[in-house]
Amino acid sequence: MIADRIAEVRSEIRLRCEKVNRDPSEVTLIAVSKTKPLSMILEALECGQTEFGENKVQEMCEKQAQIPERPVHWHLIGHLQSNKVKKAVSVADMIHSVDSLSLAKEIDKYAEKAGKCQDILIEVNVAGEESKFGVTPEEVLPLVKEIALLQNVRLRGFMTVAPYTDDAETNRPYFRRMHDLMVDINRKNIDNISVDVLSMGMSGDYGVAVEEGATHVRVGTYLFGERDYSK
Ligand SMILES: *Cc1c(COP(=O)(O)O)cnc(C)c1O
Repeated sequence: MIADRIAEVRSEIRLRCEKVNRDPSEVTLIAVSKTKPLSMILEALECGQTEFGENKVQEMCEKQAQIPERPVHWHLIGHLQSNKVKKAVSVADMIHSVDSLSLAKEIDKYAEKAGKCQDILIEVNVAGEESKFGVTPEEVLPLVKEIALLQNVRLRGFMTVAPYTDDAETNRPYFRRMHDLMVDINRKNIDNISVDVLSMGMSGDYGVAVEEGATHVRVGTYLFGERDYSK
């Protein structure tokens, strides 16, 4: 049951927060509904879940169009191609996967046209995995300085997809590094920049991520079951 799983994850988030003296209201659960049917989203909505994550713009738009007038917030968590930016801006409340200045500029352009200030996160490949998107930790500061000059995007913070692992503890240093990175950026006092979002932690490691300062955890499999990509 999705309801039970959501309750379990919320309770685990509370426990982890208690452990490190954080206020659980600082942590947002994003239910990652990619590849899953609308019926599952509606079921989650019934339990008060309002934040959803999708990795494809098209799928996000289709689902959004089918949801009746309900307060749903969409998080685009997958890699974004420049030809999909217009659509992404039209539906996403937050774009987690900004990994270049050219993409940020494209988002800025369409956000201006839409009369919107688009919340974005910079995706950081904190473990330096070859297969992953995202900038290196060293590339973050120069990119932040450039993004600071854009009028129609608001940089809220950073996102990372930590390595896949059976032992969440092995990702703790990566989550810690992300937190340090956020603190460092705020200390630079860059005009226009004050970041407070850390999107990190998935089904296998969100508890550790919360202990290390995650403000948004992205949980898919644990809530909705394994995904089938063959269809
Ligand atoms: C699919 C996905 C998730 C959810 O992963 P689970 O292991 O199913 O919880 C989180 N973040 C991103 C970027 C994803 O693509």
